[in-house]
Amino acid sequence: MATIGNALRGATLAITRSRTAPRVVTSSATRYFSANPHVVVDKFVSSPPPTPSSANAEALRHPNDVHDRNANYSDEDSRSMAGVTASVRHNWTKEEIAELYSLPFHELMYRASTVHRMYWDPAEVQQCTLLSIKTGGCTEDCSYCSQSTRHKTFVKPTPTMKVQEVLEAAKRAKDAGSTRFCMGAAWRELGNKKNAFNHILDMVKGVNGMGMEVCCTLGMLNAEQARQLKEAGLTAYNHNLDTSPEHYPKVITTRTYEDRLDTIANVRDAGISVCCGGILGLGEKDTDRVGLLHVLATLPEHPESVPINALVAVEGTPLGDADADDETESDGIADVDSFDMARMIATARIVMPRTMVRLSAGRLSFSDAEQFLMFQAGANSIFNGDKLLTTDNPAFDADTSLFQKLGFVGKPAHAGPRVAPTEVTGEVEITQVKGMEQQYA
Ligand code: SF4
Repeated sequence: MATIGNALRGATLAITRSRTAPRVVTSSATRYFSANPHVVVDKFVSSPPPTPSSANAEALRHPNDVHDRNANYSDEDSRSMAGVTASVRHNWTKEEIAELYSLPFHELMYRASTVHRMYWDPAEVQQCTLLSIKTGGCTEDCSYCSQSTRHKTFVKPTPTMKVQEVLEAAKRAKDAGSTRFCMGAAWRELGNKKNAFNHILDMVKGVNGMGMEVCCTLGMLNAEQARQLKEAGLTAYNHNLDTSPEHYPKVITTRTYEDRLDTIANVRDAGISVCCGGILGLGEKDTDRVGLLHVLATLPEHPESVPINALVAVEGTPLGDADADDETESDGIADVDSFDMARMIATARIVMPRTMVRLSAGRLSFSDAEQFLMFQAGANSIFNGDKLLTTDNPAFDADTSLFQKLGFVGKPAHAGPRVAPTEVTGEVEITQVKGMEQQYA
């Protein structure tokens, strides 16, 4: 599979094309229209043509390894298109992020959607499946979680699943179109759980051997455990920061924000992709949402993926039992609407343009149209499968139908993302200026 490098970028540097004259359908556009029966083929189309799944973009993919991907663009300063300029930078101030987050909704959506199209093919959406391999019985006190022993919820603790059971679940997910399989265990940390860890290493090897990407979320990890997981074939590790450093102690008291950042650093140092995001609906203010994005966007490397979750309030948890209308209490899912989600996703898309933004828990609460709003805001990854750990999620069939409706295709496993069609066609202007200071305008 072809990958893009400096040669292509040299060719696309500062190239713009005229949009005034009607354009005769080219052979590649004809192929596009033939493959998309809903598009009416005419002798002429307006320029530029619809870009999803263009033949060129199909042939060109970035390297799969996120570090190789970023290295290819190390001398890139910024991208501009249709009046919007963006760049990958790590020196964001909270004020700058707050300014973006507070833009009128229509303006924020326009900018985020344009940034998305400058860096990604908006038609390609990664599908990940999350399986709880060890449910309940966790001693932590996360106030949103149904699996904590400190809350009385419907969840009954179960032992760690057997390797064979997990591999069968991974096979089902693969058959349903999923390309990344994530395994979650409800505990504080891997610690000294040697037997369990050995089984998890076998699961990672097994899923990897099936040609799927493998992700784990196992709580806190030390450097050696991260190294062994990498050796077994782990693609990514999920460890969410949940919310801002300021709001965090109101949600969890049994481990610190610093603990979480240490695990993220161990994962990154082992060469594993970092998946790290947060949850809306924890009683946080807008400043906390901005604060979370500020921490993520100023990490030494942006996470490869940032999941944005809407709290699924579970009865028996402190946040599930909180009255959403009571100003003195932490608010629940009732206070997170699709505009909140889209605003958060759009801001994440602008401040971390090369990061996959994952529309995660709470998706079942949103209609297809609301989810579309979130994809337009820049989300390009979802969790599929009818369960997300312990809460409900859209079934595989519902997602297949949503993808067909929206013209989306899944990202293959172990393949880098498609090069943005706007980059292939030269619609995006890329400036290459070496220097530390990069500005978003
Ligand atoms: S979120 Fe994770 S660490 Fe926190 S209680 Fe639930 S399972 Fe335990």
